Amino acid sequence: MSNASEKPTGLIFFPAFDWAISPTHPEREERLLYTRDQIFEEGIMDLPQVSEYAPVLATTHDIAMTHFCVPRVEDQTTEAHLIAAGAAILLADEIVSGQIKNGFALVRPPGHHSMRVVHGNRGFCNINNEAIMINYLRRRKGIKRVAIVDTDVHHGDGTQDIFWHDPDVLFISFHQDGRTLYPGTGFTDELGGPRAYARTINIPLPPGTTDESLLYVVDNLILPVLNDFKPDFIVNSAGQDNHYTDPLGSMRITAQGYARLTEKLRPDLAVLEGGYAIETALPYVNMGIILALAGLDYSAVLEPDYQRFKESSDLTGEVRRIVEKLLQRWAKRDQVSISQSDISGNYFQHMKRIYYDTDNIQENQLEKLRLCDNCPGYLSIETKATHGYGHTGGKALCLSVPIDACPSCRTEAADLYEKAKKARQYPYVYLQDKSADVFLGYNTAKGEEWRSEG
Ligand SMILES: [Zn+2]
Ligand SMILES: [Zn+2]
Repeated sequence: MSNASEKPTGLIFFPAFDWAISPTHPEREERLLYTRDQIFEEGIMDLPQVSEYAPVLATTHDIAMTHFCVPRVEDQTTEAHLIAAGAAILLADEIVSGQIKNGFALVRPPGHHSMRVVHGNRGFCNINNEAIMINYLRRRKGIKRVAIVDTDVHHGDGTQDIFWHDPDVLFISFHQDGRTLYPGTGFTDELGGPRAYARTINIPLPPGTTDESLLYVVDNLILPVLNDFKPDFIVNSAGQDNHYTDPLGSMRITAQGYARLTEKLRPDLAVLEGGYAIETALPYVNMGIILALAGLDYSAVLEPDYQRFKESSDLTGEVRRIVEKLLQRWAKRDQVSISQSDISGNYFQHMKRIYYDTDNIQENQLEKLRLCDNCPGYLSIETKATHGYGHTGGKALCLSVPIDACPSCRTEAADLYEKAKKARQYPYVYLQDKSADVFLGYNTAKGEEWRSEG
């Protein structure tokens, strides 16, 4: 996007005072209050390079064009969720229209663990703020190619799921190795579906990784891949829990490391994800990111106990091997490697089991992608959720038509929707048609249909 340096960096603060998982939960409103105090004390908001915006609400339609919320969007979201997603959309709009050069949505609740289908809260997330914003830009603003760089210590498994089959959205996540941290995914062999192969890139880092190896990954893997992909818009899922004081992660990244990363990445929009060291890390890391986005000097942003960490040569070597392997994979990104056992006729199909740790829900999915020669293909998902304590609910058929769908995929998905309504096999049936910007939902027991459009 435009990088005219005279334009300001846009910021939105939304601490969500009325939303918490529980009063002592690490994901709570104080996360942003310390940051806000620090930024006001340092006079950052008075600088001409920074412009503050008041957040607005995303619409239920904006949510429905990304997520299949079971049974409805209203059941899975509060006003706080709509504001967090709305803040990302508002800043993205301002960037695209050239009012600001870039932006940072300092909002909560976070979103990167929310997947395409939503039965409840996973990893503190109900809806995916970045994904909703990206789908908005693509439907409404003509943005085609988007890159997401997820810099949270946890793998951005929700964002990965949502864009898994999308060849125009590149998802890159570095995170602490999933063998040592929630959600236990994000390995180098998770590369995307048959029509979007290697457009998902996961960089699992060993616990104890410092700024040195992190910046090595940025310079030698992330920037070259972005340079090849040539996105129209770059989103940073900005989780600050790689910080050395974070209580949930085991990494050794400093505020300086995060600021340098931001300066190199030059994202159009950063959206806050995790970060749970609310006093010792978040105010410093967030301030470093804001200064880097605004093109200001961040060299004085140092934690009170700041130190430069030294990595073992074993760790450095391991990171370099991961980078080498992924570079080779990227170079051969058009050589798709998908198991034939996942292909059934003209469809790619895949069973998935998804666990919602916050809400104790087990979900089973059968996902089918139509292997179309003329478009990325529509997706059908049969989903069934079992809530803790044995209550079974939330069975649904979800049909998703991509933005650049061919007429045949659109017609086939629409026919399936009508057939499923009549067959009464699923309590809920949904049709999300991104090419027409229309969402249809059907409650079989009540014989009731609802519709939203942009
Ligand atoms: Zn996290
Ligand atoms: Zn098609």
